[in-house]
Amino acid sequence: MNTLLLKGKPVSDRLRSDLKSRVNKLASEGIVPKLAAILVGDDPASKVYIRNKSRAFGELNCQSQTHDFPADCKEQDILDLIDQLNNDMDVHGILIQLPLPQHLDSKKILHSVSPEKDVDGFHPYNLGSLLEGNPTFIPCTPNGILEILKYYDIPVSGRHVVIVGRSNIVGKPLFALLAQKFEMGNATVTICHTGTQDLIKHTRQADILMAAVGCPEMIKGNMIKDGVDIIDVGINRVDDDSKKGYQLIGDVDTESVMGIAHSVTPVPGGVGPMTITMLISNTVLSAEKYRKLVVDC
Ligand code: NAP
Repeated sequence: MNTLLLKGKPVSDRLRSDLKSRVNKLASEGIVPKLAAILVGDDPASKVYIRNKSRAFGELNCQSQTHDFPADCKEQDILDLIDQLNNDMDVHGILIQLPLPQHLDSKKILHSVSPEKDVDGFHPYNLGSLLEGNPTFIPCTPNGILEILKYYDIPVSGRHVVIVGRSNIVGKPLFALLAQKFEMGNATVTICHTGTQDLIKHTRQADILMAAVGCPEMIKGNMIKDGVDIIDVGINRVDDDSKKGYQLIGDVDTESVMGIAHSVTPVPGGVGPMTITMLISNTVLSAEKYRKLVVDC
């Protein structure tokens, strides 16, 4: 079998070109979608991610501002800023860059973001709406995965999806989406984690296998069945002798699944490019909701 590589860039390019016309329409009415990102500390990976986000927003004529806090900042200072951003009509999306330092209560901080500006979709109100089947802001990575499946015509309805990983940002929202009775859902979904016994028994039953684990190349060719479609969410930094000093590796051993799987997302270049695009998409959606509220009234 010739395994198809499900690259994220063409999917992301098509979505960005659609977003451009939506941004232009908003601009004609004086509205510029704006994201406020909060970055605490000096984590290099987080800094790169925020820089990439700012660049991508700029390329689509959207705004992105970053609020930097030192690693030892007071929780109340962050909560005060979020309160201010919640009430700032020019800000349509608020993003808290995770992980936060240990002394901060991440849950309290995430919950203090107004659900109307929670473009990451992590607020319990938005996660609850997703579970109910009325999503507002769908978390970016799961949403990007649905777009990849749609773009490459990978059927979901009626198939058995096995997700390895149950994080609040990837595994659980994916479960909630794929089990819904809608076009890109209607699947039978199994979710696996460290408590799962005989993981391989489950992964071998998957028509679509999604790995969001954080363990480099954990999914091997002997763990899948012929013709499976694989979504590799993992992004693991592994040290090597290259100039950069590391390489990015997925949760799937791509080489060992080639020839067995029907398709697989590469790492890098698969799910990764989708996440920032879906963040812009949610911010534009938030600005459109604001427009409806203010201009139409
Ligand atoms: P996370 O919060 O680190 O959770 C990992 C999940 O995997 C947990 O549910 C854990 O089970 C499960 N797990 C760990 N080892 C396992 C094992 N040996 N067998 C079965 N299950 C196991 O995960 P995350 O934040 O979703 O991140 C997962 C990966 O995706 C990371 O590599 C991350 O960098 C990447 N990621 C990529 C994007 C993107 O844009 N492409 C976005 C987000 C995350 P327990 O719950 O039992 O501990």
